Amino acid sequence: TFPTFKYHIRGHRVSIPQNFTDYESIKQYNPQIPENFNFAKDVLDVWAEQEKRADGPALWWVNDRKEEVRWSFDELGFHSRRLANVLSGVCSLNQQDRVFLVLPKVPEWWLVNVACLRTGTVLLPGTYQLTARDILHRLQTSRARCVITDESLAPVLDSVASQCSSLQHKLLVSPTKRDGWMNFGDLLRNASSDHECVNTRSDDPMTIFFTSGTTGSPKMTQHSHSSYGIGLTVNGRYWLDLTERDVLWNTSDTGWAKSAWSSVFAPWTQGACVFIHHMPRFNSHTVLETLSNYPITTFCTAPTAYRMLVQEDLSKYHFNTLQHCLSAGEPINPDVMRKWKDATGLDIYEGYGQTETVLIAGTFKGMKINAGSFGKASPAYDVQVVDEAGNVLPRGVEGNIGIRVKPHKPFCLFTEYTDDLVRTAECYVGDFYLTGDRGRMDQDGYLWFEGRADDVILSAGYRIGPFEVENALIEHQAVAESAVVSSPDPIRGEVVKAFVVLTPEYKSQDQDQLVKKLQTHVKEVTAPYKYPRKIEFVEQLPKTISGKIRRVELRNKEWVGRTII
Ligand code: ATP
Ligand code: MG
Repeated sequence: TFPTFKYHIRGHRVSIPQNFTDYESIKQYNPQIPENFNFAKDVLDVWAEQEKRADGPALWWVNDRKEEVRWSFDELGFHSRRLANVLSGVCSLNQQDRVFLVLPKVPEWWLVNVACLRTGTVLLPGTYQLTARDILHRLQTSRARCVITDESLAPVLDSVASQCSSLQHKLLVSPTKRDGWMNFGDLLRNASSDHECVNTRSDDPMTIFFTSGTTGSPKMTQHSHSSYGIGLTVNGRYWLDLTERDVLWNTSDTGWAKSAWSSVFAPWTQGACVFIHHMPRFNSHTVLETLSNYPITTFCTAPTAYRMLVQEDLSKYHFNTLQHCLSAGEPINPDVMRKWKDATGLDIYEGYGQTETVLIAGTFKGMKINAGSFGKASPAYDVQVVDEAGNVLPRGVEGNIGIRVKPHKPFCLFTEYTDDLVRTAECYVGDFYLTGDRGRMDQDGYLWFEGRADDVILSAGYRIGPFEVENALIEHQAVAESAVVSSPDPIRGEVVKAFVVLTPEYKSQDQDQLVKKLQTHVKEVTAPYKYPRKIEFVEQLPKTISGKIRRVELRNKEWVGRTII
């Protein structure tokens, strides 16, 4: 049997199989979840009480101007308690009221996260790149009572606020003042740091994250205090492999669930330091400098970022403390893993999960990495590949990636898509929650991603995952990145089409010849039926704000006026 989580005591380790090579999914994992749980009280305050490290902050924030903030768990507690008094005092927010937070990576973002826990208010983080329309939609659908943002977005917010009847309080994170807004810093300075954390039930709503919107409009995904607060122990302990001596830098945008995963809960379950470099824009050089100059032990970023980093001359940098690199959100190309390893000596460990879940599967330290597979099921879930009716398929057969939810729904699965019972119900078939992703499990329990259900291409009787073709393409020097989708064809129904971004050296080459070269290359490195019959060169690919390729956009353009079969 699998041991229960020790979710709140410093130094306690969940005992794990020593050898991940032999590791298999834990069936029906169902630990004892306490009736009441609050991550601020039961985890952060416990770390603060036990704090011994003189120079190991809980939060270490820097920016391009060499400004720096370092908070111990105790200081994090102090500031967040003052903010909790602001939320429940001046803002008169009650437990379960919703707080909409739109800030870039500034330390206040973390304070709001913790203050919401302390007051039992439900946090809705939004990405800083939202437009007025997005903000209006989010405020109206969420009925948030309070919004917290900075001076850049405040005017945008004001332009829609009159249409949001639930909105009562606006907090401005800025040294300047603005009419109709309360100043965050002033209120914080004047607030008392005496605050007693409210009692929250483990299953009370804690946060609502919007999905990335890769396939359609983002969905409001509700998590409870335990689902992320305890559930993300799996990510922190197993996948990120953190201890209180580690410094983790995760680059995700503050609007995505990945920031809750790897910039809040997972590292702090382990007492590790959350490192943040606030860059206005992703800059490969700054990333590489930061990895060289700060004692970062663990680095987690998106595949799109690794694809950019490996195009730099990595031999110029020395990452003296870096030990563990991770990638999640999209498939990582084996070719990029290879280049990163050649330059740094480090593997890239992959994680697969969703806003709706904690880590579903991943590669873990000590486990053999099979490039192209995102690893084995996480200890949190019984993961199976199932058919449309929810029947478990034999190993090796492609189907829907599902998580078993009967007889017990895992506590670390989302509660619901907020106010959308129909959509929530649609995710469940038989004994399984369906992820909407397709793949297969091999004899050794490794999962191989085929693609999102909508992205899989059916051509002349073959099922082709875009990722296999993209991986083949990127092995060619001409290809910086690519997106593969289906395109209509009078004979075959649909064929493989690749949108390719060229590396700088190849941009001026004869394009017809390049098309042929790339087609021949794909036929050589993978099964020939997958080769892209159509190739279009583009300057960039459509992506979500979190950097994921939006194949749906490219596909819709191909199929405009036709029905996708
Ligand atoms: P939406 O649901 O709004 O279309 P989204 O699914 O991209 O957006 P997220 O919850 O941020 O929103 O992302 C989860 C999805 O990302 C997974 O369902 C899967 O398709 C993809 N994904 C995440 N990690 C990996 C990975 N390592 N390999 C392949 N795909 C991944
Ligand atoms: Mg999704």
